[in-house]
Amino acid sequence: MIDMQKTGRNLYLYFKNAVIITACTGSLLAQTDIPEIHRSSTVIDLHSDVLLQVLRGADISKKLSYGQVDLVRLREGGIDVQFFAVWPDPGKFKPDNMYRQARFIIDRLKALLAENHESIELGLTAMDIERINAKNKIVACIGIEGGTVIENDLSRLDSLYDLGARYLGLTWNDSPDWATSAKDEYESDGREPAGLTDFGQQVVQRMNDLGMIIDLSHAGDQTVRDVLAVTRKPVIASHSDVYKLRHHYRNLKDWQLRAIAANGGVIGINFYPVYLDYTITVEMDQVLEDNKVHLDSMRQVFGGNYLGYRQYRSNFLRSVLKNIPPVARVVDHMDYIIELVGDDHVALGSDFDGMSVTPLGLEDVSRMPNLTREMIRRGYSEQRIAKILGQNFLRVLQAQKN
Ligand SMILES: [Zn+2]
Repeated sequence: MIDMQKTGRNLYLYFKNAVIITACTGSLLAQTDIPEIHRSSTVIDLHSDVLLQVLRGADISKKLSYGQVDLVRLREGGIDVQFFAVWPDPGKFKPDNMYRQARFIIDRLKALLAENHESIELGLTAMDIERINAKNKIVACIGIEGGTVIENDLSRLDSLYDLGARYLGLTWNDSPDWATSAKDEYESDGREPAGLTDFGQQVVQRMNDLGMIIDLSHAGDQTVRDVLAVTRKPVIASHSDVYKLRHHYRNLKDWQLRAIAANGGVIGINFYPVYLDYTITVEMDQVLEDNKVHLDSMRQVFGGNYLGYRQYRSNFLRSVLKNIPPVARVVDHMDYIIELVGDDHVALGSDFDGMSVTPLGLEDVSRMPNLTREMIRRGYSEQRIAKILGQNFLRVLQAQKN
């Protein structure tokens, strides 16, 4: 009887230790597995939509089994600086409610940061980034997506800057009154695009004065041309790819890549397979059409559990699609830009949690070191890798002050 109890207790201890050992080995592996250059560089992701998940109720302070970003996986992926995209959905909110919604989302982010102050902190400057990273914390930065949030009022720009926003995407797919988006220009049936209006020029000027970075992802060709003609500071395209490799209105043509390079700006490479590759786009459209009834019925099954449905849909697509591009395809887009304008203008803009399917090897933010591995495999120098991972963007951030 006593022996049995002993055996039981030993078994209990065995399993308890096994769990502890597994947990330790797991985290140790994750640590040592990261390439040295990835660990020693400041790794900056210019665009994540994880706040959408937070607004839908996800608790990203824990490691989640769904979605692509949480605080645990940010650390596993060796991310030092994460830009959180603040995007009030213009399909959901009236134009005169966009600013309020942006503020609401920023408040939500700040509450999240306060709850997790031991692991993550809001950064406003390059010095903040250095200071916060030195404490072994992740830096959270705020980027806003969509110029409609300022509701045609320059003082709103000041307020958003004061609240901590460090870039503003002048347009999303929709256009504010003062700048045309890539989508609207693309769908304009040959009508002359308006580009940046006089007020739009004032927006650019005020952002230059404030030191708020202009983000040209989603902006139309004419808007890009007009902005680059007037801005006094380097710009970014926080999450865009190369048009030559994938003809999509969200991607940047050679003249745009050259113009952004001439301006001293950077392009954050987007991981969304649809922007990386044409074949997957065609296949995805077909799969979604073929499985519309099934996915619609599953949506009913999940009911109010939207996060659960999204993850189901994502897993389903991943299991069916045969042409999901590998991580190497992301580096193809980097290669192209480097060939065209050199390696001072490439950065990372994952768009994680803004896409249902991710490249193979980049399933979520914890897999980010695989991108560095691919750069190493291609023979990129350590200096080049460090630039792409973060230094190029830090240069742009610093230049906003001048
Ligand atoms: Zn976007």
